Amino acid sequence: MQEDATVVVAGGGLAGLVAARHLADAGVDVRLFEREDEVGGRVRSDRTDEFTFDRGFQVLFTSYPAAERELDFGALDLRTFTPGACIARPGERSILSDPFRDVTAFTDSLFNREVRLRDKWLTLRLRRELSNTSREEIFEGPDRSIREYLRDYGFSEAFAENFAAPFYGGITLDRSLSTSKRVFEYTFRALSKGSIAVPAAGIAAIPRQLASRAEAAGAAVETDAAVESVDATGTAGSGSATVSLGGETVDADAAVVATDPKSARDLTGVEAIPTAARSCVTQYYAYPALKRLDAGKRLILNAGNADPNHVVDLSAVAPEYAPDDTVLLSATFLGERKESDAELEAMTREALAGWYPEHSFADLERVRTERVPFAQFDQPPGFRERLPGVRSPDGPVSLAGDYTGWSSINAALESGRRAAEAALEDLQIRP
Ligand SMILES: Cc1cc2nc3c(=O)[nH]c(=O)nc-3n(C[C@H](O)[C@H](O)[C@H](O)COP(=O)(O)OP(=O)(O)OC[C@H]3O[C@@H](n4cnc5c(N)ncnc54)[C@H](O)[C@@H]3O)c2cc1C
Repeated sequence: MQEDATVVVAGGGLAGLVAARHLADAGVDVRLFEREDEVGGRVRSDRTDEFTFDRGFQVLFTSYPAAERELDFGALDLRTFTPGACIARPGERSILSDPFRDVTAFTDSLFNREVRLRDKWLTLRLRRELSNTSREEIFEGPDRSIREYLRDYGFSEAFAENFAAPFYGGITLDRSLSTSKRVFEYTFRALSKGSIAVPAAGIAAIPRQLASRAEAAGAAVETDAAVESVDATGTAGSGSATVSLGGETVDADAAVVATDPKSARDLTGVEAIPTAARSCVTQYYAYPALKRLDAGKRLILNAGNADPNHVVDLSAVAPEYAPDDTVLLSATFLGERKESDAELEAMTREALAGWYPEHSFADLERVRTERVPFAQFDQPPGFRERLPGVRSPDGPVSLAGDYTGWSSINAALESGRRAAEAALEDLQIRP
């Protein structure tokens, strides 16, 4: 084992924070540099006097194995959504639920007219099949688009359009369902095993917890510190890495590049790092809590058109997000939208008025707009085969980031651990 080994981690998103913690746990001297003034990367929240605004609508799947391993769910004080969704179109709302997990909505679901009885039966069959399918079988089997997969499985066009497009479009940020079916299968399976949730203090409680754990293990986490270059010399087992940032040069025995995909490509030159983006805009609105929507803690899916794709009463799910007397709604639009904030708000008002003709939304107030140009990397069929591995760069440099697996919190957390293991292997340290 190398004495007093030093590893630099570039980037303090979920992947970098997990890598830093595992390296520090193994006794390595770790310095993590994060370009922004806070850690978290794509998982950030802003807290005002009244509201918590996550930077884009985002949820934790509680059955993600890496999340269970890396996070303390109890300390995150998770607030869970009700399984299933409310499907809405002008003049109509209906509940589609998971009968195994929300028995109260069983009858509503059974008589839901948006999807056919055969689709409900196929959903249960798929649920059973996928619960017996391993992660490897999902990620390594033949691939095609979600739309083709659903059609080949026998689901109706109505199921694809009225439920899968807004629901899985919301997960993949791609309502056309052209994303790899592997993402569908993995998230469908995760949803039948667990819940979706947000921490009471906002989604950024996740990276805050990871940063505390990394620091408690001995890692130094430095913000406002942009890494400009990472130069490796020698081979993976016996080399070194020189990292430069703002006039300072840090010599290390190994480095982990845990930046967003574009920066990672610039820093390492690894061409296989995917940079095509999926974008979204989330707008937040407040109104008096006297008039809550009856969807409760369920997502409201827009089956009428794509704008917005989905709406949720976040304050019903996590009352801590807003004052007691106020509802905080979030509406998510897919893509990098050219419309102004006011135009997006007008679309939400029109959708809500159609879905809830009995409500007046006159006192609805737009309180925030979050535009997220790079939320996920694009995941068309066959994307996995083209991704870089953790060990793709030359020398003692490893990659950590969702783009080494698939675009998710789970893959980011998992990649951090794998990159730390690769660095420890370079340093001949056993984890
Ligand atoms: C709006 C939105 C919705 C999402 N929804 C979900 C969801 O519901 N469920 C789910 O599982 N996933 C979701 N995701 C995806 C998930 O958030 C990401 O896959 C994950 O956070 C990626 O983490 P990462 O550590 O790989 O990368 P990032 O979060 O991109 O972290 C990279 C870090 O590196 C820093 N950095 C960049 N360049 C440098 C440099 N030169 N020097 C130092 N630091 C640098 C960045 O500032 C950043 O902090 C969503 C993402 C967004 C944005």
